Amino acid sequence: MQIQFLDLKAQYETIKEEIKEVLTETIESGQYIMGPNVKAFEKEIASYLGVKHAIAVANGTDALVLALDALGIGPGDEVITSPYTFFASAECISRVGAKPVFADIDPNTFNINNEDIERKITKRTKAIIPVHIFGQAADMDKIIALAEEYGLHVIEDACQAIGAELNGRKAGTIGKVACFSFFPTKNLGCYGDGGLMVTNDDELADKIRLLRVHGSSKKYFHEVIGYNSRLDEVQAAVLRVKLKYIDAWNESRRQKAKLYSELLKDAPVQTPAMKDEKSHVYHLYTILAPNREELRKYLEQKAIPTGVYYPLPLHLQEVYKNLGYSKGDLPVAEETCEKNLSLPLYPELPEEHIKYVADAVVEFYKRGGVL
Ligand SMILES: *Cc1c(COP(=O)(O)O)cnc(C)c1O
Repeated sequence: MQIQFLDLKAQYETIKEEIKEVLTETIESGQYIMGPNVKAFEKEIASYLGVKHAIAVANGTDALVLALDALGIGPGDEVITSPYTFFASAECISRVGAKPVFADIDPNTFNINNEDIERKITKRTKAIIPVHIFGQAADMDKIIALAEEYGLHVIEDACQAIGAELNGRKAGTIGKVACFSFFPTKNLGCYGDGGLMVTNDDELADKIRLLRVHGSSKKYFHEVIGYNSRLDEVQAAVLRVKLKYIDAWNESRRQKAKLYSELLKDAPVQTPAMKDEKSHVYHLYTILAPNREELRKYLEQKAIPTGVYYPLPLHLQEVYKNLGYSKGDLPVAEETCEKNLSLPLYPELPEEHIKYVADAVVEFYKRGGVL
């Protein structure tokens, strides 16, 4: 049994013929940038999410940077986000010259903690970036209420959460603007880099469209300093094929996650908390495991690949020394970084593999939780 953490080729095998067809078509069309596939993909994904505007960009990080830029956030401003996420969620804030401020997370969902958001709001705060971590939607109702009370923008980092739902609404359609990533390993991934921003705000959508092509709406006439951040036709063509399967793939992830949680229920690990059935799309299946490093080595000896997302919270990163945080400031995020372990999960993962992995975890603790 060769267990993989994520097997992108297994997914390709299931859609190979369709992909080959659209790739050939796109390459033979001679149109590679801002052509019919990008246009159609934007329309299709806007309709899938239930949002007015979808604007494709080069990657998820750019989507976050453009969102902040389009909202006029920059030097002197503060933006509150989670310390337990991929670096880009905070990097975008620094990139536009604003200051990232970190609020601690909830120990069960790993999403940002609303009470701590409120404690961190100052006169300089301009926005909140909740991250729907590992595919589970953050507590958006409370975050929106806070944002309204204090006059802040909400930018959803939905890079890991395409398809997740909150009371019938899709994650990424609740804040002012949301950002998605189509990095190959994401639930909806292309064969390179890709990203998207969505909003219901017409004016903001126009600004973002302007920013993505050098601040220009008429070719060679420039209104603002922009970016070159576009999705390629080839990636858009791939994404149009894959978008048709995203709900089935997410459902498969949920089923497999459920099986893991059942098999692990007697082990002394914390399995993922799910607010409700549809709120989670399991970009990752992440447990909290005592003695994580030894468990990881034990699994490695059994040829079981695992991942640590993430080993160091953002407030303790070298690059953010100047922000003045020290160890102990955000204790939940810090402890989560010491204990988290992600187990293999992807829509095509065979059930025997899940059983083998779960058995090994159970076995490790039965023998005392040591190597
Ligand atoms: C992947 C990811 C990003 C960045 O997306 P890229 O397309 O890799 O630039 C941002 N935030 C989160 C939470 C992510 O998981």
